[in-house]
Amino acid sequence: MPCRVHLLAFTPQPDRTVAAAARLCYSSVSASELLEETKDQDISKFISGLRRSGHLSTFEHVSFTFSIDGISRICSHQLVRHRMASYSQQSQRYVSMDNPEYVMPHSIASNPNAKEDFNEYCNKAHELYLDLIAQGIPKEDARYVLPHGWQTRITVTMNARELHHFFALRTCRRAQWEIQELARSMLREVRTVAPLIFAQTGPSCITEGKCRETHSCGNPFRNIEELINEKNV
Ligand SMILES: Cc1cc2nc3c(=O)[nH]c(=O)nc-3n(C[C@H](O)[C@H](O)[C@H](O)COP(=O)(O)OP(=O)(O)OC[C@H]3O[C@@H](n4cnc5c(N)ncnc54)[C@H](O)[C@@H]3O)c2cc1C
Repeated sequence: MPCRVHLLAFTPQPDRTVAAAARLCYSSVSASELLEETKDQDISKFISGLRRSGHLSTFEHVSFTFSIDGISRICSHQLVRHRMASYSQQSQRYVSMDNPEYVMPHSIASNPNAKEDFNEYCNKAHELYLDLIAQGIPKEDARYVLPHGWQTRITVTMNARELHHFFALRTCRRAQWEIQELARSMLREVRTVAPLIFAQTGPSCITEGKCRETHSCGNPFRNIEELINEKNV
């Protein structure tokens, strides 16, 4: 089953809040007044101006919390390298891995022999895990036999500035496929509630019109819609 991403919570009126915070810098009235009085058509103008000028601290006023299920521990390990974020991850010390739940890469799923070997290996590892627990080995030690591909659940909170940075790195076609899928799913979620903040985001082929990678993928995204509509593998 593919990863499941659900937007659990977010700062109310994210686009409007960022615009009000930015306007405050040049205004004699309070941000709460600006929050009310800023016209819808001006919000888009302010936000694209902020992005252009690099006045990105204003994007830190709004945060987004995601519930993420069904990613591998390989993917979560890459995710938690992003330090400007808060995480709560399901513990394998306290939660028993009762069922064999692991992520199978497409390259393996699409190869019948490899798929059979992979399933056999993961199920064997899981049997050994249960066996060790039955022998009185603590869960925190028995888990050492579980593969990297084991599924996990994690709650993540990032502000909009960090999300832009995360999307720049992880929606790039040069990123590993699973975290690309996760990042795209997160992007789809935030665009439903903050369409202006995330109107333009993603890898440098979209935001700068050129690739910043040393080894380009050779297949740049033409626009953000193409990225959003990219199918999972
Ligand atoms: C395609 C790809 C391949 C990768 N391959 C590897 C690999 O082979 N090995 C590996 O170890 N990692 C690898 N990484 C992970 C990468 O090195 C970063 O750890 C990860 O992308 C987090 O990015 P970050 O440090 O920019 O940002 P975050 O941790 O999200 O931080 C955001 C920004 O805050 C600032 N910041 C955060 N912490 C500090 C700090 N302590 N000091 C100063 N500024 C700070 C920086 O400007 C940073 O860019 C890879 C990442 C990608 C996208």
